Amino acid sequence: MSTDTVDRIRANETIRPMNSTTTTRNTGLRINVAQLLKAPTGAARRFHLSEEIEDIDKDLRVVAPLEGTLALIRTADGVLVSASLETVVELECSRCLEPFTMKVELEIEEEFEPSVDVHTGAKLPVLATEVDATTVDEHHVLDLTEVARQSIFLALPLNPVCTRDCAGLCPVCGQNLNQRVCQCVTETTDPRLEVLRQLL
Ligand SMILES: [Zn+2]
Ligand SMILES: [Zn+2]
Repeated sequence: MSTDTVDRIRANETIRPMNSTTTTRNTGLRINVAQLLKAPTGAARRFHLSEEIEDIDKDLRVVAPLEGTLALIRTADGVLVSASLETVVELECSRCLEPFTMKVELEIEEEFEPSVDVHTGAKLPVLATEVDATTVDEHHVLDLTEVARQSIFLALPLNPVCTRDCAGLCPVCGQNLNQRVCQCVTETTDPRLEVLRQLL
């Protein structure tokens, strides 16, 4: 099999080959890599991925599909996933507390290792403790869900702000200062000046 053959990998099928006009159903980030595991080291497949992931984590509001290019490369030990993906999440602004959407870009480089021999079906000596999010399961399915979920969290800002110059809330009356300026802000709050004012 030629390594640049872009053939469809059956995985119930989240992925369609690049340059293809056929549309396939999105049913998960699970990709069957049986054919690639049988290919020689260096064999690669590239795909365009477009996948609904709104239920990827209960603490995330994902409002756009996970989308981008994905390369699967046969390595000596398994399959290297190299992906440039993006999605859009809804966050709450840490200053004004209003929801806003933010594009999240993910660069994923992750090597997955098989748990069974693709030719014989024999279990490979993967210790139970080593089976994790980057283990290819016994059906030769590589599941990108956990890797993608973690990458999204890593890409989120610690203190998200809706705009760089978000004015936030008035600490006195709670008014959203992006919408309207309240009286509290225009008054001076310096206590020393307040003392002087009372003396006058
Ligand atoms: Zn804000
Ligand atoms: Zn105020």
